[in-house]
Amino acid sequence: MGVLIRKVHMDCPLCDKTHEVEERKRLATITLKGEKVTYEERFYFCSNVDDDENEFETGSMTNENLLNSRNAYRLKYGLLTSDEIVAIRESYGLSQCY
Ligand SMILES: [Zn+2]
Repeated sequence: MGVLIRKVHMDCPLCDKTHEVEERKRLATITLKGEKVTYEERFYFCSNVDDDENEFETGSMTNENLLNSRNAYRLKYGLLTSDEIVAIRESYGLSQCY
């Protein structure tokens, strides 16, 4: 599920152990103001847990995902300024370096 970005050694809240958790990204769909928008979502994946509850997000990750979904909405409906479009393209360019 999703694309592996990197592995992070951290305290895992799912299995209560300190181990390498996989940071992954995938395309997600959200409904904003009645419109479906596709955006890039990041999450952590714990391979120690063997059920559907093997994903979690940190607070900053949730904020980033929310920001990405709002930007995707604004991009889709042409609500961005040209400066903002450049900034988003640059951030996508950087994210491809992983
Ligand atoms: Zn874990």
